[in-house]
Amino acid sequence: MSKFVHLHTHSEFSVLDGMSRVTEIVEKAVEYGHSAVAITDHGNMGSVPKFYEEAKNNKIEPIIGQEFYIVEDVKKTEKGEQSHHLVLLARNYDGYRTLCRLSAIAAENFYYRPRIDHNILRYFGSDLKDIMATSTCMSGEIPNAIMNNKPKKAKRLLSFYNSVFPNFFLEFMQHGDVKSRDRKERKFAEDEEKINETLWEYHTKYDIPIVVTNDSHYPEPTDSWNHEFLLAIQTGAKIDDSSRFKFRGDGYHITDTSDMRNHFPKAIWKASEQSMDWITKNTRIRIPELENKEHYLPSTGVKSPSREVRRLSIVGVNSRVPVSKHKRYIKQLDYELEVIKKAKVENIFLVADDYVKDAKKHDKEVGSGRGSMAGVLTSYLMGITDVDPIRFNLSFERAINPARPSLPDFDIDFDDKDHVVAYLRKRYGTENVLQIGTLNRMHPRSTLQKILKCLNYDFRTAVAYSQQLPDTGEMIANRSSRDIREILEVAAPDIKQLLDDDPRILELMVKFDGLVQSVGKHAGGVLISAPGQPIRDIVPITKISAEKEPVSQFDKIALEKQFGFVKFDILGLSTLRVIKEIKRLVDNEDLFKDFPDNDNLDDEEVFKLINSGSLTGIFQLEGFACRQAIPQIGGIHDFEDIVSIASIVRPGVTQFIPVFAANRKKKNKFKKVNVQSGSNEKGTIKIHGIKKLDKILESTEGVILFQEQVMAIAQHIAGFDMIRVDDIKEKIKAKATDEFDDMRLDFINGCVEQGYKIKTADYIWDMIRRAAGYLYNRAHAVSYSLITYQTAYLKANYPLEFFTVCINMAREGKKDRQLVALHDEALDLGIKFLRPSLTRSETWCNIEDDKIRMGLAMVKGVGETTASEIVSTRNEMGVRRTLKVLPKKVLRVNVIKALKEVGAYGNKYADEDKQVALLGFSLRDHLSHYRKRIKKASYEKGNEVLFGGQVTEVRKQKTKNGDDMAFAKISFGAEQNNVVLFSDQLADFGNDFKVGNILLVYGKKQPNYSSIIPEGVELLNGN
Ligand SMILES: [Zn+2]
Ligand SMILES: [Zn+2]
Repeated sequence: MSKFVHLHTHSEFSVLDGMSRVTEIVEKAVEYGHSAVAITDHGNMGSVPKFYEEAKNNKIEPIIGQEFYIVEDVKKTEKGEQSHHLVLLARNYDGYRTLCRLSAIAAENFYYRPRIDHNILRYFGSDLKDIMATSTCMSGEIPNAIMNNKPKKAKRLLSFYNSVFPNFFLEFMQHGDVKSRDRKERKFAEDEEKINETLWEYHTKYDIPIVVTNDSHYPEPTDSWNHEFLLAIQTGAKIDDSSRFKFRGDGYHITDTSDMRNHFPKAIWKASEQSMDWITKNTRIRIPELENKEHYLPSTGVKSPSREVRRLSIVGVNSRVPVSKHKRYIKQLDYELEVIKKAKVENIFLVADDYVKDAKKHDKEVGSGRGSMAGVLTSYLMGITDVDPIRFNLSFERAINPARPSLPDFDIDFDDKDHVVAYLRKRYGTENVLQIGTLNRMHPRSTLQKILKCLNYDFRTAVAYSQQLPDTGEMIANRSSRDIREILEVAAPDIKQLLDDDPRILELMVKFDGLVQSVGKHAGGVLISAPGQPIRDIVPITKISAEKEPVSQFDKIALEKQFGFVKFDILGLSTLRVIKEIKRLVDNEDLFKDFPDNDNLDDEEVFKLINSGSLTGIFQLEGFACRQAIPQIGGIHDFEDIVSIASIVRPGVTQFIPVFAANRKKKNKFKKVNVQSGSNEKGTIKIHGIKKLDKILESTEGVILFQEQVMAIAQHIAGFDMIRVDDIKEKIKAKATDEFDDMRLDFINGCVEQGYKIKTADYIWDMIRRAAGYLYNRAHAVSYSLITYQTAYLKANYPLEFFTVCINMAREGKKDRQLVALHDEALDLGIKFLRPSLTRSETWCNIEDDKIRMGLAMVKGVGETTASEIVSTRNEMGVRRTLKVLPKKVLRVNVIKALKEVGAYGNKYADEDKQVALLGFSLRDHLSHYRKRIKKASYEKGNEVLFGGQVTEVRKQKTKNGDDMAFAKISFGAEQNNVVLFSDQLADFGNDFKVGNILLVYGKKQPNYSSIIPEGVELLNGN
């Protein structure tokens, strides 16, 4: 006897509508003994990679489908248009490809939703033979016409669907209850009955086969309420709002055969059984791309890729390497080319080389490297990357392991990534290039916040609770604690209280955690497929909005690991735009000659600048963590120090700062003793007293900072072969530190075999263990530090140009704090600013007599377009006429007002506050007399602080007991400190804390470090 099979199932990929995870759907099918199961998500097939794998592993036939949105005419885009549902199911691989192509067309016709129409279906013609279609739910076109008493229309639609699809089924659903007391529920049930009766008529009259389905949206019957809650989250409704959207009827779970049989009259069931029988016999999907573990490499069309890679590399040897070193470089190159040839990945190098060359040809700024591929000499010689791996001791094996070659993963930064993506489309064809999508999943913090919002908690309370849970970043760093129950078990006491008070919350958290909540676009991942293999035929695509470029419905892991596509990361980096703009402004041959690359990285001015703390605008170093860490480690003295500092301030690694600093002191002492004693003992300075270890960790003061260092330790100290070195690297990359202990014994034994004592081996293992979860790869760190050095070099040597460009970019990017910081640092260096002027300003800031003239676009409310229109008209006809001829559309009243207030009419500007409001800072340097004094006096020791600045805000409040208290903000350039004054402090210093006053404040930081309680105050601009 044939069994029932679910043909209408929504998974979590029916975003915030389906609650079943793909694994749950397969598990249920196994549990109920179904031979196959379909997934039919709304406008989405994102479940496929997981579904295919899980189903095959469980010997269930996956029926891949989609519930499409269908409209009358996709060319019409009317607000509030009615779209209908249409379930399509693939019978085989060709059918799957047809669904993918249909998805691509639906994405192209995106309007609020991806949409198709009748004409599109007609266009597919005989390709639809590999597809099964059903009349679908109540939102299907036919049921909808029946429900609305349009029998003629229903029949017309029936004949359309039945003729266009060789395998068309009438779909029977039964969710309503005609005896319900609720009027709306009853109406729903009656509609359902009417539809089913009419469909039965069609069946008997036209002999169209029928199937029974369950419109399942969640795994268990008991999930009904949880699912309602999910819908409330989706629609942004409160759970106790009776008018919120919910499903009528019930039973939207995954169910078993007997339950389904009981739901339907015998005749319907019998007819459905026949169809089920036919469907299970005639549906078999094998997706070859998912079966054979092959890679589909793109090609630039070169006949002999390996010869071409070698040729390009040799060109690089001649242009990038001094003759005396040729032998050494060619030796490494030959070794790499051997591995690359064995892995058959030359084409990946050629593709990357091709788009980098195109970008450079079009004057685009290309980053010096990013990620592990910067460690490959071949990339450097070909000119894809710009750091010399031999000079910086980078590891080829970190990028491509000879024992287990993986696909090279090129990550490259550009100032204009859109140019590169457009070029790729042109070069390889739109069909063969696709941007990768990402799946954003619900994580504890956002889940709790959403649940609480639905439960009527106010926004602030919801945020306050949820912020006590780890965020996504932390969760990724600590994979081991992924289980939501475990996370909640160790949560803060008030979270526990919350869960005790309302047990529903825990259940909802468990049900929702990790569900897909939206689809996004990967930062830079672009797929390029092999010639003759259009990606859209194999990968369904979607759009996030009508204007945006289409992206894949699968994430990068599925695309690379399961489908075998090759991904290239094309990333935008705004710092590259900064560098380019400064170069353009400087326009000086010397700069181009001396611009820092591999060999000239020892400009003392650069290190002096960094150590002075003038870090705004310097790539990687401007964050608070760096400002703090640089003095802690005793300053920056060479390029390696920049590499170290940029790596040591990353989350998790900061714990090593004190050790780094202490080891550095030890080393310096050691050096001094050596010099004094006249010893010329060569080699590594002792830190751990283990020669090989000290050598490996030499550049990082005996601290493990890089993945490559762990690889070197495993290879040279524990004697691991390259396979095991790769194992340990993979674990570090995946941050799978909980699996680390499995390798301990192996490591210890290896060390002992190499002649080390067990104690020594343990000591080293312990170091690795502590660092492993947080490490960077050195190739990346060095490449990025080169950009850091370059920006610092420009700031130290061309400050006027540097500040002009950075200030413009800060305003453009609406980075107000950075803007203030830049202005402040420029004043420190004695740079003068000129106010905006209708006669002299350009659109953006420019240099005028060694001063920075504010651009008109700097004035808030003016904007770039207006500013540039004013400037170009003025240049043509002079100021007077400009003011007359420019239409009101450009010179709006508020634009004129803003320009007058800021003094651009040559008038005296209105007042300071207005100027600050319009420019983001005051052109007058209030702090100028006090700047030096404040800087000199400032210090921080433990929780004790002394700082100064101008009072910019005072907010008075009452405490719970009714006492007065106040919060004040003190600004010193970009620095801002929060001060709390309770009644005692108010009595002592209340008079000093007035907006505009410039103060020196001594006080104690509160334990949470967010504010300071003053203990002593000195008024500097006394009155
Ligand atoms: Zn539907
Ligand atoms: Zn549905």
